[in-house]
Amino acid sequence: MKIHGCIFCQVAAHEKTAKILYEDEHCIAFQDIHPKAPVHLLVIPRKHITSLNDNLDDDKALLGHLMTVVGRMAKEQGIDGTGYRAVINTNAEAGQTVFHLHIHMLGGRILNWPPG
Ligand code: 5GP
Ligand code: ZN
Repeated sequence: MKIHGCIFCQVAAHEKTAKILYEDEHCIAFQDIHPKAPVHLLVIPRKHITSLNDNLDDDKALLGHLMTVVGRMAKEQGIDGTGYRAVINTNAEAGQTVFHLHIHMLGGRILNWPPG
């Protein structure tokens, strides 16, 4: 179900252009428009989920699938050995700006800990 005005629903529906690196019936992975690292991808479900605060009891398999795609993309990008980070920002104080669940996958440089 597509949510009107949601830019990531539009990316998933190919209505908004993005550099898509992987897609299947459940999810899509594409380059972040403002990359914060040499590799910065977003992995999103096709289904509109607002954030981890949604009731996700029926979406456990989907969430697990997203994580497997993050790992697959890290291999494809050649950063599985050097290292990468998967991040889900949730609500304002974490910096969530797009309210369609997305996993940031960042790598290709040394990542500081803790994140800012
Ligand atoms: P958040 O701040 O919600 O965790 O992350 C949203 C991310 O989406 C940001 O890193 C931002 O650069 C990215 N983004 C926002 N709009 C677009 C867009 O239209 N296309 C793509 N590819 N990335 C976007
Ligand atoms: Zn959406």
